[in-house]
Amino acid sequence: MADGAPARRAGLDYARRVTALKTLSAAIRKSEAEIIAALAEDLGKPEPEVRLTEIMPVQAEIAHTLKHLKRWMRPKRARGTLIAFGTRARIRPEPKGTALIVSPWNYPFGLALGPLVSALAAGNAAIIKPSELAPATSALVARLVSEAFAPDFVWVAEGGVGVAQALMDLPFDHLFFTGSPEVGRKVMAAAARHLTPVTLELGGKSPVIVGEGADLKAAARAIAWGKFANAGQTCIAPDHVYVARGVEKRFVAELKAAIAKMYGRTPEAQAAGRDYARIVSGRHFVRLTGMIDEACAAGAELVAGGESDRATRFLAPTVLRNVNPGAALMREEIFGPVLPLVPFDDLDGVIARINAGPKPLALYVFDKDRARIEAICAQTSSGGVGINVTLAHYMHLNLPFGGIGNSGIGAAHGEWGFRAFSHEKPVLENRFAPLGGFMPPYRGMKARRIRL
Ligand code: NAD
Repeated sequence: MADGAPARRAGLDYARRVTALKTLSAAIRKSEAEIIAALAEDLGKPEPEVRLTEIMPVQAEIAHTLKHLKRWMRPKRARGTLIAFGTRARIRPEPKGTALIVSPWNYPFGLALGPLVSALAAGNAAIIKPSELAPATSALVARLVSEAFAPDFVWVAEGGVGVAQALMDLPFDHLFFTGSPEVGRKVMAAAARHLTPVTLELGGKSPVIVGEGADLKAAARAIAWGKFANAGQTCIAPDHVYVARGVEKRFVAELKAAIAKMYGRTPEAQAAGRDYARIVSGRHFVRLTGMIDEACAAGAELVAGGESDRATRFLAPTVLRNVNPGAALMREEIFGPVLPLVPFDDLDGVIARINAGPKPLALYVFDKDRARIEAICAQTSSGGVGINVTLAHYMHLNLPFGGIGNSGIGAAHGEWGFRAFSHEKPVLENRFAPLGGFMPPYRGMKARRIRL
């Protein structure tokens, strides 16, 4: 930590970083059965989804990091400039120190340990505060970390908002927060007290545009999977879909078929099946069913789903159309398995509507028309874009992952994660007394002759 810490840690050298990453990887491998059980308990997550979206991303991050870490750590030469003639310049990444990682409940394993991989790769010590709303996974992460690492190196502080706030009173060297934009604002205010740099991985309403030229069957499958995986509780899940009016009917039919194929034809089959997660808590269940009721009371039409069971926190994959633009479903991040469809005639109007709201974390386009795709990419701003695909940009480790504006600050994953936890220190070395011509007395100074 910065001020008040007993001693500044030197930061891990390459060999110790590699050992730490391999230790973490082995600990995860050894605990797979417990990880799967914890996520079943917290979110009813199907085992393949746990493997694909929680365990695999962390293991892939470790493997990718081990492959490239030496190169990332190497000081990079900076090209000379006229003014600094006679010097040698390098950018030397150094560990920031001790990082605080605060994570959410929706991917409570992957989003606690994924950032840890980057923190360790950059040579830092870390404290993780997992979400109290996924208590089984929080306990598991605490046990796994305490068995793998010494407590003064990596430590897990379990608890709720109070624990997070108490930790944020301390002068950490970096704060990596994943959660909602509302809490993100408070986190940034807390970090400001110590001028702690932040990475904020936030959320928001990620729109989808299905154009006239889309392969509707493929689009429906990708959107259904992106929306209903983890029962819609995914930061980059499609939030709502703008669909070209001319293809709306066929798209709705394909969407229904995709839902039936993935999760079952009836709510009974969906609830009994083993492919569909549950809503995390009674509070979120009430929030989501309330949003559906409000929209339907104002004239929205249920295209699919709508069934729910409070006791088991099951909410069927739900699709609505004609949702009032003022309804909560169109104002708040939905963060559940409810998908409003908005038909459109005019793409410029859709772009204007997107640009009128906060910048989303993801934006998805389904179309084959290159000009339309390019127009959407060029005229909107979002954390990331998926073209004819949903969610998968998260898993591409050679792409930065992060938001912009309301959806976040900074980036994670691969080299960008390493850089988030590193200070890129410029080092300038004088090789043969440069700059002498620019020192006083200034009369006859050579600088006068320099035109920049
Ligand atoms: P949240 O913001 O309520 O909580 C996140 C973490 O912050 C938890 O550990 C919680 O204990 C802590 N926290 C809550 N209130 C706090 C406060 N006042 N001060 C300090 N810490 C506090 O988020 P959530 O409900 O767990 O997660 C859902 C949100 O996270 C959604 O908005 C979603 O889009 C977003 N999200 C973003 C990403 C991403 O990578 N960008 C990934 C997953 C989730």
